[in-house]
Amino acid sequence: MLALDDTIAAISTPIGEGGIGIVRLSGPQAKDILAQVFVPAASGAVVPESHRLSYGHVRDPASGAVLDEVLAVWMRAPRTYTRQDVVEIHCHGGIVPLRQVMELILRCGARLAQPGEFTLRAFLNGRIDLAQAEAVLDIVRAKTDASLRVAMQQLEGHISSQVSQIRSALVEALAHVQGALDFPEDEIPPLDLASSLAQARQRIQALLTQANQGLVYRQGVRTAIVGRPNVGKSSLLNALLRSDRAIVTPIPGTTRDTLEETLNLRGIPLCLVDTAGITESTDLIEALGVKRSRHALQRADLVLAVIDGSESLQPEDLAIADSLRNRSVILVVNKADLPTIADERGLLPEVRHVRVSALTGLGLPLLEEAIVQAIFSGQVQSSDLPVVSNPRHCAILRHALERVVAAESAVQTNGEVDLLAIDLTAAVSALGEITGETVGEDVLETIFSSFCVGK
Ligand code: GDP
Repeated sequence: MLALDDTIAAISTPIGEGGIGIVRLSGPQAKDILAQVFVPAASGAVVPESHRLSYGHVRDPASGAVLDEVLAVWMRAPRTYTRQDVVEIHCHGGIVPLRQVMELILRCGARLAQPGEFTLRAFLNGRIDLAQAEAVLDIVRAKTDASLRVAMQQLEGHISSQVSQIRSALVEALAHVQGALDFPEDEIPPLDLASSLAQARQRIQALLTQANQGLVYRQGVRTAIVGRPNVGKSSLLNALLRSDRAIVTPIPGTTRDTLEETLNLRGIPLCLVDTAGITESTDLIEALGVKRSRHALQRADLVLAVIDGSESLQPEDLAIADSLRNRSVILVVNKADLPTIADERGLLPEVRHVRVSALTGLGLPLLEEAIVQAIFSGQVQSSDLPVVSNPRHCAILRHALERVVAAESAVQTNGEVDLLAIDLTAAVSALGEITGETVGEDVLETIFSSFCVGK
């Protein structure tokens, strides 16, 4: 996958019907292939000037058949996405014309691109580093404006520059330690190892502290809505989404499956899962729904436990509450527009209780506030957007932190200098994995294979 000398091609727009669909090529033969298949409407040059869009047709040189009416652009390296010659052919957005143009291009010598291979080439050619390449994927997948801004920051190199600074400080420390190892008799200019290691540790810790919030923006928070049938779970989902995605009916057990919707709650993507009433059921489909609910419940980061405030508590309410011990829960007392009958004070006393009416919207802003607070569990939400939002980066930072801490204690206890060098080397090489300076081919493959084809 790491070859750069052939020419790759892919349909870079989503498959389906659309106004336009774009076939993209990257590699040394891109321009030649365009010249073979593209007939510009204007007389003159066969291949348009670099970075200029031109109008014409794609024609099969073998049969002479015209496949589509297109706009085509050729972009000369290195001012391109991949830093190679890039061609884009803007076709009509149907499946058939795109596939025909794509097949023709493959016959002319291009190879079908692997997922993420355009971005991989941009990385291999040094246009972007690995963290920036990963940001491209996050941008494509961003669910809220805030998630997008976090990913854009990453694309602009915020994490790369912070990590590089920490890494350079550690490289300097390592050079110093190695100097002492290699030339024990020589006078080595003093470097306050203890304080430069402490600084590096603090900076990594600061990045990690923010990272929890970063993960929230990137991955969202899985929130399950649970409660016995008819307490108003689907109505609550709809009220939060302000739409009618879930079917609301007065017959218990109508939500037979789990429904998932992403809600943008102050920039946090909240993946809401409405679960079929967790109840013992003899109906097979309903029983399946119940099984899925339990599963959804297990995987949730946050649980909205709903009860009906207009009825007295039922044994099922108690049983559900009981199953939620030690979870992150908000107790939602619904139907606040009706006279209050339930006495829920003893139910989940350690968690926040919020009274709402899914029907009238009463109390919903309070519930939203409670959700945001529960997500950041009392942590002050920083006004700056987090720099780190990728679990791979978090894992690397934690690993680097361990090694820096080990190095620090070696310095404090006047430990073995070669062990110190080993810890520092490990920290330096770990940090290089974020930007891609010291990353293995297997890691690259895992990262880029999660991209879509054409990106
Ligand atoms: P689910 O089975 O828990 O998903 O409950 P639904 O959302 O299907 O609601 C069951 C019934 O309760 C429906 O008739 C809803 O209109 C009604 N309902 C839901 N929320 C409220 C509310 O806040 N106030 C009132 N008065 N009725 C509600």
